[in-house]
Amino acid sequence: MRIVITGAAGFLGSHLCDRLLAEGHQVVGLDNFITGSRENIAHLMGNENFTFYKHDVSNYIYIAGKVDAVLHFASPASPNPQSPLAYFNLPIQTMKAGALGTHNTLGLAKANHARFLLASTSEIYGDPLEHPQKESYPGNVDPAGERAVYDEAKRFAEALTLAYHRQHGVDTRIVRIFNTYGPRMDLEDGRALPNLLKQALLGKPLTVYGDGSQTRSFCYVDDLIEGVVRLLYSNEHMPVNIGNPVEMSILEFAETINRITGNSAGIQFLPRARSTRDPQRRRPDITRAREILGWEPKISLEEGLRRTIPYFKQKLGLTE
Ligand code: NAD
Ligand code: UDP
Repeated sequence: MRIVITGAAGFLGSHLCDRLLAEGHQVVGLDNFITGSRENIAHLMGNENFTFYKHDVSNYIYIAGKVDAVLHFASPASPNPQSPLAYFNLPIQTMKAGALGTHNTLGLAKANHARFLLASTSEIYGDPLEHPQKESYPGNVDPAGERAVYDEAKRFAEALTLAYHRQHGVDTRIVRIFNTYGPRMDLEDGRALPNLLKQALLGKPLTVYGDGSQTRSFCYVDDLIEGVVRLLYSNEHMPVNIGNPVEMSILEFAETINRITGNSAGIQFLPRARSTRDPQRRRPDITRAREILGWEPKISLEEGLRRTIPYFKQKLGLTE
């Protein structure tokens, strides 16, 4: 297939490029580098099956030649208001990537009779009142809250994707991605793993917001990409959760990172910003992914951290 990937220079987009190129596809990557980096795709330059265009997908997308699939991953993704790369600080760009970017990528798929896959998120469940989250749970999102720029854009994106499927017959897929981590995450984007792992490797105390009782479920990138690729090759049109169902508190997560890195600086508790509506609990119900895709994650948190640490050390200049 000839596959267009938006957000190709980002964390997940670049891993997806690697995986689909390894399977023998041609990949056309698009990115405007708002939160991504040229370094993430530097190793692909010169690969005859890879083409890259710097482009903002909120604007009309023109790709010469046949396209067989479009995977829309372009969007800021960090919720930490302390980072300039977070969607709180890129509110209009985030809404445009989710709304106009989804419209343009769906248009590209429709014109080419191509498959389409939307990268949605567990954030569409908001601060969930149902636990764990099944795909049938409609969510608890405040459209006037600060997180809405991301959550509502992704909710709109899902609705538009299904509208193109139902009205125009576009062959669409929707993956609801839960917290994923691994090499090529931006160390400065403020998400929990880059913040805490960077602090641990530098021998600093880990910043836990609030008392750390809020929970998340962390999936290693290779597991996530496997789920996304299986969904792409499937015939499932309704949303599918992909994430790791092993739930833990953020405090436990921080303690695990300190243990694995041998950091003895402990934990620094910081106030949890109320205004951000930081979800209290999050864990995917992956029954549908198991049944439809035969997928479940295989890599434990400890193993995933071991695979991620060398990248962080290299970025921090800590390699001997
Ligand atoms: P990332 O910030 O590393 O990657 C996003 C990429 O999209 C970046 O390279 C950025 O420059 C690019 N981009 C943003 N707006 C653009 C635009 N208008 N035009 C072109 N390129 C644009 O983040 P990520 O973690 O790789 O996330 C990728 C996708 O997966 C996002 O859609 C995100 O919402 C979704 N997602 C990720 C996670 C996770 O845990 N990593 C969880 C849920 C959903
Ligand atoms: N968090 C934290 N310390 C940090 C960064 C994040 O305690 O330095 C918490 C954050 O408040 C949230 C959880 O870790 O409860 C996961 O945050 P992340 O930014 O990874 O994304 P989210 O899961 O909220 O989308």
